[in-house]
Amino acid sequence: MFKLIISVILLGFTFACNGNSLPKNQEEDNPQSAQVQETPDDPYQEDRQNMVTYQIEGRGVNDDDVLQAMRTVRRHLFVPENETENAYNDNPLPIGHGQTISQPYIVAYMTEIVEPEPDDRVLEIGTGSGYQAAVLSKIVKEVYTIEIIPELGNAAAKRLNNLGYDNVEVKIADGYYGWEEHAPFDAIVVTAAAEFIPPPLIKQLKEDGKMIIPVGSPFRTQSLMLVEKEDGETKTKNLMPVRFVPFRRSE
Ligand code: SAH
Repeated sequence: MFKLIISVILLGFTFACNGNSLPKNQEEDNPQSAQVQETPDDPYQEDRQNMVTYQIEGRGVNDDDVLQAMRTVRRHLFVPENETENAYNDNPLPIGHGQTISQPYIVAYMTEIVEPEPDDRVLEIGTGSGYQAAVLSKIVKEVYTIEIIPELGNAAAKRLNNLGYDNVEVKIADGYYGWEEHAPFDAIVVTAAAEFIPPPLIKQLKEDGKMIIPVGSPFRTQSLMLVEKEDGETKTKNLMPVRFVPFRRSE
């Protein structure tokens, strides 16, 4: 299974280098109907249910809230227009600026592993398209997400706002430093691969909180790590090999 995941992530990674542009018309979506999340004329409703059944439940994700969020967030509105048809495929997709939206299974897995609860405040590093933030926002109370590429962050903020995800706040910054103002966080989800776990993020994680982060060199296989804070100590666990775009640093 891991081989499959790595190969599809690699495939997406290659695509990502083509630098596709962001969607133009999708922001014009009616925010009213978007809030409902399940429009009767959603042509991708069936594809999305199949994605959850076969790619996500089929691989062992079984948290009801996570599955429900994956069933309702319309992934096809988070990818560039020319990728709409591929939105529910079992692989990452390019979102422009050399970045990718993660494979649906990875999004669901990373969400499940931090055990999100309705009252939680969650920090995401690497907003990208805003998809992971949207999935989290369906489950928790507040989502704070940081993106280093202004064009991506601004487009994601606009998209999330138009689609009615009003418990998500986007900031353009280097996520290495976290978001002190809203800390501590019940969970932190990092969606770019860092060479090491940024100490400010550990500091901003609540006692008993969970952080998921890919750790390793860019352009090589990395380790998806679970970081837990217990009795003031930080424990890390290696979960699986993955391939993510690099964690960048501001100059
Ligand atoms: N979670 C995104 C996928 C993100 S791809 C989604 O659901 O679509 C990883 C993202 O992390 C990219 O957009 C990249 O620009 C961003 N990134 C990389 N380094 C970062 C940093 N130091 N701070 C904030 N964002 C960063």
